Amino acid sequence: MIIAFGFQPNPPEWVAKHNIETDGRSRVVAAEEQTFMKQTSNPKVFAGGDMVRGSNLVVSAIWDGRKAAEGILDYLEV
Ligand SMILES: Cc1cc2nc3c(=O)[nH]c(=O)nc-3n(C[C@H](O)[C@H](O)[C@H](O)COP(=O)(O)OP(=O)(O)OC[C@H]3O[C@@H](n4cnc5c(N)ncnc54)[C@H](O)[C@@H]3O)c2cc1C
Repeated sequence: MIIAFGFQPNPPEWVAKHNIETDGRSRVVAAEEQTFMKQTSNPKVFAGGDMVRGSNLVVSAIWDGRKAAEGILDYLEV
């Protein structure tokens, strides 16, 4: 049995289909420094972790999750 680990994002088809912008390295574009943190080019979609940063750390993914949650709450005006 061969176990294969990926080290770069491999966005599924629905990412492009839902107008979620990716960069030249297939990473989803979702900056923290914007009105709604971690919001993608599709306003209803927020992203973080390896899909945004590329190969990174668990703690960064957790941080992104927290920031995305804040972004979602702000977006929903909660
Ligand atoms: C071999 C290896 C060793 C590593 N060692 C370390 C380490 O020692 N320390 C450290 O900090 N980091 C380490 N990392 C990095 C760390 O694992 C990642 O940075 C972290 O897991 C990223 O979290 P994430 O939530 O962004 O993505 P992931 O952990 O990859 O989570 C994404 C989840 O989405 C699920 N998913 C995918 N598509 C769908 C879908 N269509 N519907 C529903 N679910 C879906 C996947 O099954 C997966 O569970 C390592 C990575 C690798 C590959």
